[in-house]
Amino acid sequence: MADTNGKPKVGIFSFACCEGCQLAVLECENQLLDLLGAVEIVNFREAMDKIGDDYRIAFVEGSITTTEHIEELKEIREQADILVALGACAWPGGLNIMKNFQNLTEVRKYVYGDKWEVHDSIPTRPISAVVPVDFYLRGCPIDRDEFVELVRSLLLGKTPNIPTYPMCVDCKLNENECRFHLGEICLGPVTRAGCNAICPTFGTKCEGCRGLVNDPQVNAQRDVLEEHGLTVEDILRESRLFNGWEFGGGEDLGYKGVDVTVIQAGGE
Ligand code: SF4
Ligand code: SF4
Ligand code: SF4
Repeated sequence: MADTNGKPKVGIFSFACCEGCQLAVLECENQLLDLLGAVEIVNFREAMDKIGDDYRIAFVEGSITTTEHIEELKEIREQADILVALGACAWPGGLNIMKNFQNLTEVRKYVYGDKWEVHDSIPTRPISAVVPVDFYLRGCPIDRDEFVELVRSLLLGKTPNIPTYPMCVDCKLNENECRFHLGEICLGPVTRAGCNAICPTFGTKCEGCRGLVNDPQVNAQRDVLEEHGLTVEDILRESRLFNGWEFGGGEDLGYKGVDVTVIQAGGE
């Protein structure tokens, strides 16, 4: 049973990450109290230590970096009606994918020193590379309002309203000065909106932590790029920090990612 006393059970699980997205959930404060009235949270590592056994919704943060993670994630998937990726580490893998561009043995020695063989470590993958994912809450960390919107929508049986358009749209609505005017390379034209363009609004470029828009070759905010003499390929080349999985970080694991043939022809 995924419900207790009529309340849907919700589990929040954590793999390799800083657990900042769970903290963002805790920071929902008043909205969280409302939600707690509507659901029963049966696994929440940052807040409590009770382990449940089945879930209406399972939120999963963090990347998969050990063989044990793979088995645990599959178990969670089997127990959950709906599985939601929570934050950039869960999808598209975030900063943890950087490991995949280096020699794994050297990385293990660097991190674990003379105990490197004791610690299990495999190439990083987002949770979607291991199990099917139903919904994605994006960002590093997630947007709190988006979390509340998603939980409310799922409880009402509605499809959550999560933006699919590029960051530049919200940035322009906020009347920000474009970071390209200041000589910076901003990933807003290829990054999915939803954080209200918080970085440009507070004076820095977008690093793309919410992941790419669907098919950036088609859906990028081209007018911004054209104004600055750039192409979609130019901007995608900068996208490895959070989106390395899409740009070769998943190749050894059979993930094709964004077609980079054009980008490689551009000089990478
Ligand atoms: S997405 Fe960012 S904030 Fe969330 S767990 Fe990963 S590193 Fe931490
Ligand atoms: S490129 Fe960056 S700063 Fe410029 S409009 Fe787009 S999101 Fe805003
Ligand atoms: S502006 Fe870009 S880097 Fe900043 S939170 Fe939004 S998606 Fe992430």
